[in-house]
Amino acid sequence: METTDPSTGRVFAQLHGVVVDDVDRAVRGAHEALRSTGWGSWMPHERAAVLRRVGDALERRADEISALQTLDTGKTRGETTALAHSAAGTFRYVAAALETLEDQLTPPRGPYMTIATWEPVGVVASITPWNSPIASDAQKIAPALAAGNAVIAKPPAWAPWVTLLLARIAEEEGLPPGLLSVLPGPGRTVGEALVAHPGVGKLTFTGGTSTGRHLAHVAAEKLMPVTLELGGKSPTIVFEDADLTQAVAGVLYGIFSSSGQSCIAGSRVFVQSSIYDDVVARLVEAARLLRIGPGDDPRTQVAPLITHAHRDHVARMVDAAVEAGAEVLVGGTIPQDERLADGAYYPPTILGGVANSATICQEEVFGPVAVVLPFDDEEDLLAQANDTDYGLASGIWTADYRRAHRVARALVAGTVYVNTYKQFSISTPFAGVRDSGLGVEKGRDGIRSYMRQKSLYIDLSGEPLPWAAEQALQVRPSADLEPTAT
Ligand code: NAD
Repeated sequence: METTDPSTGRVFAQLHGVVVDDVDRAVRGAHEALRSTGWGSWMPHERAAVLRRVGDALERRADEISALQTLDTGKTRGETTALAHSAAGTFRYVAAALETLEDQLTPPRGPYMTIATWEPVGVVASITPWNSPIASDAQKIAPALAAGNAVIAKPPAWAPWVTLLLARIAEEEGLPPGLLSVLPGPGRTVGEALVAHPGVGKLTFTGGTSTGRHLAHVAAEKLMPVTLELGGKSPTIVFEDADLTQAVAGVLYGIFSSSGQSCIAGSRVFVQSSIYDDVVARLVEAARLLRIGPGDDPRTQVAPLITHAHRDHVARMVDAAVEAGAEVLVGGTIPQDERLADGAYYPPTILGGVANSATICQEEVFGPVAVVLPFDDEEDLLAQANDTDYGLASGIWTADYRRAHRVARALVAGTVYVNTYKQFSISTPFAGVRDSGLGVEKGRDGIRSYMRQKSLYIDLSGEPLPWAAEQALQVRPSADLEPTAT
């Protein structure tokens, strides 16, 4: 396999691409590692110690991870540095959570003790997209290892390097070999063979909705649990009483950071009619000033997209929207600037003049493209904002906390931000509804999603069970066992 720097289009490395036959070897190796190390039976604090060391190493090596991820994905150094620190925090949080996870002594309903306990599922398949590799890896790998499993990670073919580096760091910090394997290779062959393998006990997947839906079918064949974090078409909403300086900055960051390649990108911007013209003018002006450039230039705000092919896909979606009647308010064409000629650049783009039912408002672009839409009141807003197949995130900008609370409860979304956007916390659950996902990641319970529950009933009384008493009456003891009279 070859990997390409999106800011220049140049191949910067080659690596051994995995083929389908390697999948079976990796799964067998993972089971063997679980057996030989007894990882699943280690005391929680012992597993936690390894995870904490991995977290500390990720923190120490954040600069190296950031440089590699910027080369591989094109993202800005600021963003990849933040992602490396976030991955470090994830490993440390999960280590702490692991040490405090408790089994439950459930209320007895008889002369026995009942314990609700948990055990690892065995081998977990982790399949991730390219938009923030180290953070999505950590979010899955740390809790899956914490739960006592082995993990086989299938990183995106376009950006496999930081997952490989993470696995190397984990081994250097004391994770026994074989408990974390990385299979760089194409999704449709290697990824699917991994999900279908009978030795894999759980799939955790982040990626597109159609891939996730397909893999859920593959998993259903063997009744395997799945966690799916999928696409989105998230609304950000500006009410007339909002702090407009904050709202404009937040809306821009919500859609144009990561060049719009974020599952929670706020791609539908709803603005109350009374302030629509003013806010749209501010958004357009500010978007025009955003600095486009390579990820390793500290001034860059909007970096290249992951590949030229993806950039062209984004451009085609904008062109189709324009053909269908959308008006380009800013951006909308591939930059002609000599400096940007070789990279996969697309400018911050704002479209207007379409209804929420338009394709550009319903389909995920996964690029720096926002659509602005007016609304009259809360009722009108909710009817439009919730009119989507997705349900990942939403943003509300308002000074009225009662309204914020009311609208937040009424929006169909896994996460709602109020007067902020695109914040991430490993301690807070993350989930999508409708076509945005199935299951929950993060939070203390995140570890549980990589375990299965087991219930124990332990007799405490020693009393004869009902059938034993009956048998004692019916079955005459043989003569030589009869107690001798004294
Ligand atoms: P994708 O679905 O094409 O690929 C994701 C991963 O799945 C890659 O590793 C790919 O190789 C693998 N894959 C593809 N086909 C497969 C198959 N048949 N069997 C097994 N594996 C397969 O998605 P992408 O283009 O890499 O990522 C962008 C998508 O990810 C967007 O839709 C975005 O919204 C979504 N995403 C969601 C979240 C979230 O948390 N909800 C976060 C980030 C990205």
